[in-house]
Amino acid sequence: MRDRRRPLLLLTDFDGTLCEFQTDPAAVFLSDPCRTALSTLATRRGLSVGVVSGRRAADIRRRTTLDGPIYYAGLHGMEIDGPDARFEVPHLAARRDLLAELARSITAAVAPLPGAFLENKELSWALHVRAASAADRQRAEHAFWSLATPALDAGTLRLQRGECVFELLPDIAWHKGDAVRWIEADATRRLGSVVRPIYLGDDRTDEHAFDAVGTRGITIVVGRRPSQAAHRLKDPAAVERLLIRLAAVTQPR
Ligand SMILES: [Mg+2]
Repeated sequence: MRDRRRPLLLLTDFDGTLCEFQTDPAAVFLSDPCRTALSTLATRRGLSVGVVSGRRAADIRRRTTLDGPIYYAGLHGMEIDGPDARFEVPHLAARRDLLAELARSITAAVAPLPGAFLENKELSWALHVRAASAADRQRAEHAFWSLATPALDAGTLRLQRGECVFELLPDIAWHKGDAVRWIEADATRRLGSVVRPIYLGDDRTDEHAFDAVGTRGITIVVGRRPSQAAHRLKDPAAVERLLIRLAAVTQPR
């Protein structure tokens, strides 16, 4: 683990880690200094870079516009767009119709509640209540539970809880930790050498990734949330400073 010659695989979450949260998730884009640092790192010898998010992989690509060989892992890693390989969890698309039908009902139920809305991630749906009043938040959550519980109980769908986010996904056993393992294996294949993973994340869904990395690499939680990560950074601004420093000290290819 201390071997400095081993290639590094730098994986990071997006929202709350690379970027501050915004009331409107559509308004979140990577800052220019962060983009430059990550793009620089992606082209360094012995370094691979990836972004792992609950968003769609294509959405992350659009919001980061990074240069170089990058891994984009969307939907908590259920779809991964690598530099020369792709992955999608089997049977993922088959659950689409059921989710879409349920989403229509939840959308109608939360429509009268300001600040609560359902985000369409195409293969998953996320109820956001961050911007709602306490009363509306409660109403939105009540509607969500009464509509989603049958599918959750039946095991057709599962729930991924984030900070003020309730996300419904196909009940397929796959999370950010599995995504980390897939990317590690693919990066090892590409680079011809076992990689040492570094993972940065702020959300409880990132704990799966911290668990997958364990003591084989470096784990960094962002923010104050209790975490199994070995290290901690205060906020996305601190992450940005770290990436800029890393880009400055690593060797050009
Ligand atoms: Mg996050």
